[in-house]
Amino acid sequence: MYYSQKRILVTGGAGFLGSHLCDRLVSEGNDVLCLDNFYTGSKQNIRHLLGKPNFELIRHDLVHPIFLEVDEIYNLACPAAPVHYQYNPVKTAKTNVMGAIHMLGLAKRVRAKILQASSSEIYGNPTEHPQKENYWGNVNSIGPRSCYDEGKRCAETLFFDYHRQNRVNIRVVRIFNTYGPRMHPNDGRVISNFIVQALTGQDLTVFGDGNQTRSFCYIDDLIEGMLRMMCAPDDFAGPVNLGNPDEFTILDVAQKILRITGSHSKIIFRPLPEDDPMHRRPDIRLAGERLGWEPKTDLEHGLAKTVEYFKKVL
Ligand code: NAD
Ligand code: UDP
Repeated sequence: MYYSQKRILVTGGAGFLGSHLCDRLVSEGNDVLCLDNFYTGSKQNIRHLLGKPNFELIRHDLVHPIFLEVDEIYNLACPAAPVHYQYNPVKTAKTNVMGAIHMLGLAKRVRAKILQASSSEIYGNPTEHPQKENYWGNVNSIGPRSCYDEGKRCAETLFFDYHRQNRVNIRVVRIFNTYGPRMHPNDGRVISNFIVQALTGQDLTVFGDGNQTRSFCYIDDLIEGMLRMMCAPDDFAGPVNLGNPDEFTILDVAQKILRITGSHSKIIFRPLPEDDPMHRRPDIRLAGERLGWEPKTDLEHGLAKTVEYFKKVL
């Protein structure tokens, strides 16, 4: 049991990560306020929580201020998949920057502890591998991913400035590619794309030659890491990497998914999107030392659970 009856705000709470976080916080007896504008999230993700006495849903857009009385804030509001965050890049930048300002202002006023869902994208196309928290990154400031990457970087800056200037109690986690049930079937991310393609008999679209790598963390492991970070001693603000360090090429992932689904789909190759990072793998030693955290679910098992979920929803 991590908490006892705290009032906890989860922005982006109807999204993929946010809905799993709400599940954990509600099941542990907290009073949970889920805030979302339903851009990429859906009521379906939190339907089972509606009607519970310790769960409340607020439709609100984080680019506008809001005043609430809470003890803790998890700031997750922001589309995470490239197709979604590039659809309206100005809005993505606003959500990251103005959302951070509004939530940090709220945290300052009500003295709430606040955790930012930052991203491995702040490392850009990394020239160091694996990525440690003290690596400053290699980010294009004017490309199609910049609204998200630079938005997340600016949010980190704001978090640390509010911490230094106003003594706001902050936590920053840098999340690496996470997957699992409740991913949006059309979000364009590699795991959801490949599973949907495999289950519906379409060709699996590998971008580039498929030799680019990613490291995939199963949702339950990630949520555990976020909860531990919120409970960490106050002298540890982060940033801390949360992800699974097992690294796979995208071609490996396609082949695994074909095997697990038993699909006869073919693999086809499509152009690599601009600024697509070639390699990504977290160094998670800091999370191990400070949070006693490491992921428990390997890709094979996590994919099997995710495939079962998509079989039900498709
Ligand atoms: P998601 O798109 O499923 O969830 C984001 C949620 O935020 C959605 O419910 C969406 O409707 C809501 N939202 C977006 N803009 C909003 C706004 N202006 N006001 C209010 N709500 C808004 O994505 P996710 O995968 O659950 O990601 C959650 C957070 O974690 C994001 O901040 C993302 O950047 C971060 N993150 C995720 C991953 C990953 O692999 N999933 C990796 C790194 C970082
Ligand atoms: N990718 C792919 N086929 C797809 C979707 C994605 O080959 O249908 C590739 C993409 O180019 C990238 C990797 O898979 O190299 C991970 O993409 P995703 O969008 O899931 O996450 P991110 O690029 O943000 O890590």
